[in-house]
Amino acid sequence: TYVITDACIDVMDKACLPACPVDCIYEGGRTLYIHPDECIDCGLCETVCPVAAIHADDRLPAELTPWLAVNREFFGPE
Ligand code: SF4
Repeated sequence: TYVITDACIDVMDKACLPACPVDCIYEGGRTLYIHPDECIDCGLCETVCPVAAIHADDRLPAELTPWLAVNREFFGPE
């Protein structure tokens, strides 16, 4: 899955929303979130994000790994 990280906070450019072919990016209060079970790993959102907030989970820099859980938890218990 792809993951939205701290660079999105209070930016929410939303360029990723129309880019996502499966509409699995959702708006929260201060950031956007990717639904980890709906994401098809196409990578399109990463290419359009103006602040480089989006990363593939297997290429997440170590300091950003907590965002994997943050994105999942936004959608509630599994
Ligand atoms: Fe949507 Fe593709 Fe980004 Fe996943 S990687 S959130 S499917 S645009």
